[in-house]
Amino acid sequence: MTDPRRLVPRTDLLLADPRLAEPTGRLGATRVKAEVLAVQQLIREAELAPEEAVPAVLARLPDAATSLTPVLNATGVVLHTNLGRARLSEAATAAVQRASGYLDVEFDLAGGRRDRRGRGVLTALGQAVPAAEAVLVVNNGAAALLLAVTALAAGREVVVSRGELVEIGDGFRLPELISSAGARIREVGTTNRTALADYVAALGPRTGCVLKIHPSNFRIEGFTAGAGLAELATLPVPVVADIGSGLLRPDPLLPDEPDVASSLQAGAGLVTCSGDKLLGGPQAGLVFGSAELVERLRRHPMARALRVDKLTLAALEASVAGPATPTERYLHADPDQLRRRCERLAAALMEISPVEVVPSAGAVGGGGAPGLELPGWAVALPERFARALRTGAPAVIGRLERGRFLLDLRCIEEDALIAAVRAAAVTPGQEAEPCG
Ligand SMILES: *Cc1c(COP(=O)(O)O)cnc(C)c1O
Repeated sequence: MTDPRRLVPRTDLLLADPRLAEPTGRLGATRVKAEVLAVQQLIREAELAPEEAVPAVLARLPDAATSLTPVLNATGVVLHTNLGRARLSEAATAAVQRASGYLDVEFDLAGGRRDRRGRGVLTALGQAVPAAEAVLVVNNGAAALLLAVTALAAGREVVVSRGELVEIGDGFRLPELISSAGARIREVGTTNRTALADYVAALGPRTGCVLKIHPSNFRIEGFTAGAGLAELATLPVPVVADIGSGLLRPDPLLPDEPDVASSLQAGAGLVTCSGDKLLGGPQAGLVFGSAELVERLRRHPMARALRVDKLTLAALEASVAGPATPTERYLHADPDQLRRRCERLAAALMEISPVEVVPSAGAVGGGGAPGLELPGWAVALPERFARALRTGAPAVIGRLERGRFLLDLRCIEEDALIAAVRAAAVTPGQEAEPCG
């Protein structure tokens, strides 16, 4: 009998196969070689015929040089942290593409000299929020808060209400972030009630700033009271408002969500927020406020460690100054239209599976507006579809509810969904889902 090892095609010959030239250019030689080695092993183990080597390598290679897999978000949750929070607009995606090479990110083409980094996005944010004298962009919302607290209160005290000491998720707690800035937290009030007088009593020569944190991911109801920004602004210290979600102006759909413009008008010295929550842009942290305070942050050595790259600047500018973001469109989606789209999808799926159109409450997500239900509709399929769709191409993430698998169309514009469900219907070996 022939030794199977003698039949294994040589690595250099496989790598030189013209069919592998295109993927090698697209994915890199290292990636292709890894699959060549894996396929050789299969041949060695007699799992694969030697002449199948190159097609097998091609079949195993991914579409892109990144392992990140795009998914269709059929959860109805607009800002799903596990799925990358905000979906970028086409304008922002194009801006990222445009910014990926060399560009004038901190260069004045007319004058031929160095210029302020990211001036375009700073101008766009300033125009979007005229109440802000100055704006700064950093890596994320946590970085914006860290920089504000460090620049204003390192080695001093941050006065904050006991009802606002928030854990933002994945075990990250804002009080610990503040402590890591070398600032001491001076807690005032109680979990449910804090008054202006509590802040006044805590002020002293060691006070660096007063911090008001929006409890974005939970609600306290009942016997509650807090001091508003307008009251806090009467205090003789800088007031920092961490509003979290990055709503620039009030939105009637989100009456409990603070916005940057109103917070500044109420008298906050600095407002910090995220770029990839309600603002609908890339991951970023924004600081709006008085020229004097923003300049103190900008000049702090830590600012350099928190600065964003050119891709973020490009995507952020396009999200702020460009057409409505997907986040905004999905939040304000018309329920009747969602229902009609679900009915069309259900009709297309009727022949392959039991299917029903059911009411479905969408959510803001991303730790924002807890309890707010966005009225909408979904297509309900048997539970067994969950896994097949999640592992299909494209991957589809839906929601399990009372033994049914719901596809909520709020955050989906692609036509690919019908084909994905049809493919999932014939995927063998589906087991019941352990969890949602
Ligand atoms: C989300 C959030 C943060 C953190 O922002 P990231 O952009 O996730 O770093 C901080 N504070 C509040 C109130 C938030 O809601």
